[in-house]
Amino acid sequence: MLRIGLTGGIGAGKSTVSATFNRHGGVIVDGDVIAREVVEPGTEGLTALVEAFGPGILLSDGSLDRPALAAIAFSDDDKRAILNGIVHPLVARRRQELIAAAGDDAVIIEDIPLLVESQMAPMFPLVVVVHADVEVRVARLLTHRGMSEADARARIAAQATEPQRRDVADVWLDNSGSPDDLAAQALQLWEQRILPFADNIAARRTVPSPTTLVPADPTWADQAQRILARLRTHCGHLATRIDHIGSTAVAGLDAKDVIDVQVTVESLAMADELADSLLSAGYPRKEAITADMAKPDARSTVTEFDRSDDPALWEKRFHASADPGRATNVHIRVAGRPNQQFALLFPAWLSADSEARAEYLAVKREAERAGVEGGIDAYADVKEPWFDTAYRRAWAWADATGWRP
Ligand code: ADP
Repeated sequence: MLRIGLTGGIGAGKSTVSATFNRHGGVIVDGDVIAREVVEPGTEGLTALVEAFGPGILLSDGSLDRPALAAIAFSDDDKRAILNGIVHPLVARRRQELIAAAGDDAVIIEDIPLLVESQMAPMFPLVVVVHADVEVRVARLLTHRGMSEADARARIAAQATEPQRRDVADVWLDNSGSPDDLAAQALQLWEQRILPFADNIAARRTVPSPTTLVPADPTWADQAQRILARLRTHCGHLATRIDHIGSTAVAGLDAKDVIDVQVTVESLAMADELADSLLSAGYPRKEAITADMAKPDARSTVTEFDRSDDPALWEKRFHASADPGRATNVHIRVAGRPNQQFALLFPAWLSADSEARAEYLAVKREAERAGVEGGIDAYADVKEPWFDTAYRRAWAWADATGWRP
C-alpha cells in the first residue's frame, strides 16, 4: 500500500488531479466527503453534536444546519474544541476504515484540503501539492463555484501560505494552464512516479542510487528537512536523533544526487523494530549489515564511515528510498559508536574547512572516473586511502574547535 497526500489551497484544482488518479486506479479518500458523511442523519456523529449544541443545529428535515453550527462553533474557542473533539475522531476512524478496505495493493490518495494546516504532511511517503496563484483561484471560485469575491478571499486568507505549502511539497503541480494541462501532468506523475513507487513498496525494492556527481543543488537542504520530518514521524521514540549527513549536507559541494540520512538508535534491536515503519514511510530495508558479514563482500554497501576492522563498530541497518523521484539512503546506526559519530562529524568538518572540501571533491571526481572503468572496487580503492587520513584530520579538527555531535 502506498498513501499519497494531496493538497492545495481552495480552488487550486485538486479535483482534477484526484479524478485523474482515480481514473487510473487510485483509491480516493476525500477529507471533505468524510467530514460530511460522519454527521449525516442517523449517525452517531450527528447525535453527539445535538447533545452538545442542542436541536437548534438541525434543519426541519433532521439534517445538520451547517451555518447554524458554524455560527456557534466559530463564536467560541471552547465550543470549537468540543466540535473538533466530536468530529475529528470520527473522521479519523472513517478514514482508517476506508484505507483498510482498499486492500494491500492499493494506492490511496488522501485529498486533504488542510494537510499543511493540520501538520499531516510527514505522515505520507509522498505529498503532492496543486498550485494556482491567488488571483487565478479567486476568479475560478467566482465563475465556477458561485462564491462571492469576499468569501473566496476570506477562505484563501484563512489557509496556509504558498511558502508553507512549498515546504511540504514533494511534487508541485502547476495549474495555471488548462484543466487538460493539469490532468496531463497528473497522469505523467501517476505513471512515472507513483505507480513504480507503489510497485517498489509492494516488492520491498529500493531504487538504484545515482552514480554520477552533479553540481551542488541549493534545494538539497530543504529536501532533506522534509525527509527528516517524515522519518521523525515514522520512527517516533525509537530514534534518538535523525540527521542529514553525507555530501548533500555540505552546502555548495558537488555530489551524487542522493540524500543521506542517519537515524540514531540506542541498539540494533531498535533498528530492527523500525523496519516496518520505514517501509510504510517509503524506505524498504536494503540489507542488514551484520557482524557476521565478511567485510570485503560488504564493500559496496558499507560506506567509508563504517570502516573499521572490528565489525561491531561498522554494523548498521540500511534502508533506501522506493520513490523513483528521490534517491535517499537511510543509515541506522547505534548512538555513540564511531561510525555514528563520524557520520555527524564529517559534513561538519567539510563545511568548516574549504581546503578539505576541495580535496574531497577532487577525490570523488577521481573515484568516479576509476569507477566507470573498474566498478565499485576501483571506486573504493581511490576513496578509501583518502578517508584514512580524513578520519584523523576530522577528529583533530573536532578536538581543536571543541566540536561535539
Ligand atoms: P479544489 O478542489 O482544489 O478546491 P477545484 O478542483 O474544485 O479546486 O477547482 C476549483 C474550480 O476551478 C472548479 O470549479 C474547477 O472546475 C475550476 N478549475 C480547476 N482547474 C481549472 C483550470 N485549469 N482552468 C479553469 N478552471 C479550472
